[in-house]
Amino acid sequence: MITIPANLQALNMRIAAACAAARRAPATVTLLAVTKTWPASAVRAAAEAGQRAFGESYVQEALAKQAELADLALEWHFIGPLQSNKTRPVAEHFAWVHSVERLKIAERLSDQRPAHLPPLNVCVQVNVSGESSKSGCAPAAAAPLCQAIAALPRLRLRGLMAIPEPTEDANLARLRFAVLREMKETLVAEGLALDTLSMGMSHDLEAAIMEGATIVRVGTAIFGERSAT
Ligand SMILES: *Cc1c(COP(=O)(O)O)cnc(C)c1O
Repeated sequence: MITIPANLQALNMRIAAACAAARRAPATVTLLAVTKTWPASAVRAAAEAGQRAFGESYVQEALAKQAELADLALEWHFIGPLQSNKTRPVAEHFAWVHSVERLKIAERLSDQRPAHLPPLNVCVQVNVSGESSKSGCAPAAAAPLCQAIAALPRLRLRGLMAIPEPTEDANLARLRFAVLREMKETLVAEGLALDTLSMGMSHDLEAAIMEGATIVRVGTAIFGERSAT
């Protein structure tokens, strides 16, 4: 636990170095600390070190942590697979959802977003790795899905998210991220006001930042290896 502040500091330096290499201002990249499987005490340690945005993948686990940390002003992002029977708590308790891949889920989130909260920020998750990945919509489905989501009243479509297949090949990683960047650029040219590319994790955030990532989602490099679930 003592290592969390040091890991966060090292990671922020890594992000700053990647931004410098990409000739980007460090403020254009937001660090989302991914805390799935880690206890509320780990979130608190990161928050005390200045981290504000946290990502969770499992609804029940996230709600329990949020209840324990209600004294802190944190921004919660849902990044995991989302079934339609779990949309209500997500619509009620998160600021962002990165993993929208079907219109039905988006419609439910919009219907269930409480009126007293600002619109829910969403990203459409795209499968940029073909058969080696199961999550995300097919690339060809992304544009019509984005157009439909942009019309939903209680959502604010922010951009695209991807989890490319793990690879040691830095060029392949960059190629996958470039696909997502180009898709976003095309959608912006078609009139959608997108400002977010959610891409890059502990092992590939440099490649993602090179290709324009605005949110990197990092767990292991801050909190350590997760035990197998
Ligand atoms: C777990 C997870 C991450 C963080 O991955 P690390 O390799 O631990 O940095 C990022 N994005 C999603 C969607 C995840 O589920």
